Amino acid sequence: MPDETHEACCKIPTASRTCPECGRPGRRVSALTLDHHVPAPLRSGFGEEAGFCQNPACPVVYFNGSGKTIRKDETVFPVTVKDPGDEVNVCYCFGFKRGDLRRDLKSAGTTDIPERIKQGVQEGRCDCERKNPQGACCLGNVAKAIQEINRSAEKKPWR
Ligand SMILES: [Zn+2]
Repeated sequence: MPDETHEACCKIPTASRTCPECGRPGRRVSALTLDHHVPAPLRSGFGEEAGFCQNPACPVVYFNGSGKTIRKDETVFPVTVKDPGDEVNVCYCFGFKRGDLRRDLKSAGTTDIPERIKQGVQEGRCDCERKNPQGACCLGNVAKAIQEINRSAEKKPWR
C-alpha cells in the first residue's frame, strides 16, 4: 500500500480500537475531526477521540470507547470510503469529487488531480485532520478511486 506514505502530511495515530459492527481495527480520529463531521446533537457526549472504521462494507463511520457509533447517514458530509457516489468528495481540502476523477479519466485517460492535491499539500494548504472525515490525508483514497474507476472502465468500455 504505497499510498500510506503520503500521510506524513497529517500525523494522526493510526492504531486504534476495533469497530463494534465489523470487528476491523479503526483509525483514531481527534475531536477536531469529530467536531467538523458529527452533527451537534450526536456530537455531545461522544468523547474527545474516536475510531474511524475504514471498511467500505460497514455502515459505521465513527465509534467511541463506550460502544456508541455514528453511522454513514448521520455524518455531516458523505464519506469517501463509505459512499461510492460520484458527487462524494475524494479530497475534502480542495473539493475534488469522485465524478471529477471519472470525468478526467473518461475524457483524457488520465487525471492530474493527485498532482494538484500534492501541490496543495506541499504548499501547506491542506487541512485533512479537520476537513477529511477520516481525519487524515486523502491521497490514498484518491489513488484507490482512480483504480476503481479504471477497473470498471475495463469491464464496461466507455460509450
Ligand atoms: Zn466497521
